[in-house]
Amino acid sequence: MRDFSKVRRIVIKVGTNLLSSGSGINAQRVRSICRQIGDLKNMGYQVILVSSGAVGLGAMELGHKNKVVYIPMRQACASIGQPVLMQHYREGFRECGILTAQVLITRNDLNNRKTYNNLRASVSTLLSMGVVPVFNENDVVSIAEIGTAFGDNDRMSAMVASKIDAQLLILLTDIDGLYTGNPRTDRDAVKLDEVDTVTDGIMSFARGAGSTFSTGGMKTKLMAAKIAAMADCATVIACGEDDNVLVSILRGENTGTFIHPSIRLTQRQRWIINNSHSGSIVIDDGAAEALEKHRSLLPSGVVGVSGIFNRGDVIQVHRTDGSLFGKAVTAFDSTELAVMMGHRSDEIDTILGKGHKDCIFRPEDLVVVKDDSSL
Ligand code: GLU
Repeated sequence: MRDFSKVRRIVIKVGTNLLSSGSGINAQRVRSICRQIGDLKNMGYQVILVSSGAVGLGAMELGHKNKVVYIPMRQACASIGQPVLMQHYREGFRECGILTAQVLITRNDLNNRKTYNNLRASVSTLLSMGVVPVFNENDVVSIAEIGTAFGDNDRMSAMVASKIDAQLLILLTDIDGLYTGNPRTDRDAVKLDEVDTVTDGIMSFARGAGSTFSTGGMKTKLMAAKIAAMADCATVIACGEDDNVLVSILRGENTGTFIHPSIRLTQRQRWIINNSHSGSIVIDDGAAEALEKHRSLLPSGVVGVSGIFNRGDVIQVHRTDGSLFGKAVTAFDSTELAVMMGHRSDEIDTILGKGHKDCIFRPEDLVVVKDDSSL
């Protein structure tokens, strides 16, 4: 049963494939999205738009026929395409009497508490004035941002939804939801109206990216739904080609695929789980058992350290079989951990010098994960 009674804040993500037509932008589609967002605002919702399209539109402006893979060229395309994108949104929203704002972010902006607090405050101010912020990744700033950091706007939109406490994430694409197979090639494929939890089985229905200039395909949409679910935010994956899709979703109609929210993690737990990790450690079975019982991690339970990290960084915690146990904030850096690991607590003073604690992280600094496909 779809329940939108608690929804106040909505994040809507629009993919490149929806916005491009032939050799340029699909202006009619942009206008339709702006008008529909206007309808949602009239229904009393606050709306944040996350729009892809900068790289694709820039590539088209430059006359590229195929997907651009060379990172500096993708960045150049993004810087050419982003103002084109905003020009259309500005015009589309203006026709509906709505002001819009551009917000370009990197993953670091969300990971860093100070920049995240600034972002949260400025976005709340924009929303309280009725402005629709249009987010995109700041593709020009960092090589890592395109393709690896967020990897895609699907996951970025989920992280934004999680950070600003949205209750609904709508991912608009060129297909009307999640199918059990590829409906374009498989006649037996059926659409799923609702998904309780994004399990590995559900993940296996997803395929790779669809059109020439798009990035994620269904897989990243399901990963996004998982991130949103942990923030008690529902997700709907639906077809943005339909001119009334947004209102139809909020009316509770069976539009697209609805993915239920799951447990609500605290902001700190979400910060840990969604943060990129700097390195990892391996723990033995005894330590895993103790951590499951909400105990702290001691050096004697650590059997491996890899990567370079500092105190306070988020690290991955693996079991000896290689599977991911969780993510945690470490109280020691990688060099210290490498010499402490396997040692009893009463030996730490001798190894590191007097005054060192023996606790690598406390229970509240760890988030145990059930599956690791989006981390
Ligand atoms: N930031 C990229 C762009 O505007 C899009 C990434 C994505 O499609 O998910 O083109």
